[in-house]
Amino acid sequence: PPQINEDFEAIVTWADEVRRLGVRANADTGEDAAKARELGAEGIGLCRTEHMFMASDRLPAVRQMILAETEEDRAAALETILPMQQEDFEAIFTAMRGLPVTVRLLDPPLHEFLPDLVEQSLLVQRLELTDGDPAELTTARALLGQVKRLHEQNPMLGTRGCRLAMLYPEIPEMQTRAIIRAALAVREREGETAGVEIMVPLVAYASELRAQRAVVERAVAEELESAGAELDVTVGTMIELPRAAVVADQIAQHADFFSFGTNDLTQTGIGISRDDAEGGFLSAYVSEEVIPHNPFESIDRDGVGGLVRLGAEGGRAAKPDLKLGVCGEHGGDPASIGLFEELGLSYVSCSPYRVPIARFAAARAVLAQRDAS
Ligand code: PEP
Ligand code: MG
Repeated sequence: PPQINEDFEAIVTWADEVRRLGVRANADTGEDAAKARELGAEGIGLCRTEHMFMASDRLPAVRQMILAETEEDRAAALETILPMQQEDFEAIFTAMRGLPVTVRLLDPPLHEFLPDLVEQSLLVQRLELTDGDPAELTTARALLGQVKRLHEQNPMLGTRGCRLAMLYPEIPEMQTRAIIRAALAVREREGETAGVEIMVPLVAYASELRAQRAVVERAVAEELESAGAELDVTVGTMIELPRAAVVADQIAQHADFFSFGTNDLTQTGIGISRDDAEGGFLSAYVSEEVIPHNPFESIDRDGVGGLVRLGAEGGRAAKPDLKLGVCGEHGGDPASIGLFEELGLSYVSCSPYRVPIARFAAARAVLAQRDAS
């Protein structure tokens, strides 16, 4: 009803006057970005690019990109994907004109892209057992051999994030080109584009970010030169591994911003699989009060929260004006937002529908701090 909407607007506007933290949203389609903006998001804090790669009509080219044995084959696959990526980014930049968008470079656990490893080995077994078509067997074995090269027992701790990009710098290069072309196309069409921030995932070593930054900067420079255009682009990183929090001062040398990925930071900081966060020992721990709450829902203040504090302090020690945000699920959790306020982070980023809650929570966190002091 209109009255409720008006009251809601009035209260959220009041919260906006009080809060200090910025509130962004996590979105990876133009539709979600538009929804987020409608709900008051002041930018996109995390645009994941994995889902764009998983579309069924793209998977063959994506697999080719990873499995290609020659540079030519990989280049051909990347050339097919680039315009598709550009289209994805154009939709998001159009929806977010005038606001910042943090695009995260590809962070795929490999088993999600290569799910047919098991299928392929079953096919080989069947053909061997049944004396099947030798040509088919040869092809199946060759494919299995290729896929096995990348098979990992624990893909969530494997060739994810920048680790894949370190092996194949052509991938972040292609994504960067798509981002820049999209930003320029939107500016040309709409007169204004989004603020482009490029983010490197799963960094543990400063040398990784240094190398990835060089790849990104080179591609940005080439794209802008060939378009005869100028565009401000910042490059930063996720802080989502304990090592990254510990050496944040070294990593900050190569970063314009940090975004804390509290999902992976919780997984690796406490050593609990995020894929099993719902059940098993964790729910027993919570119900038997071994721990006060599920650490994937609200930040573990003493533990993972301590890693965020360490990362923020290290980053600021190296670069006082380093921009700091949070884009893990905790960014939309009122209990966690209190800690992010205390640490003086710049913004939280959460799913679009949690944006209004985060706006309230950020205001409450300011009032709670005032009461405490
Ligand atoms: C995180 O790890 O907190 C994060 C935001 O990245 P993702 O959930 O995509 O791993
Ligand atoms: Mg992560």
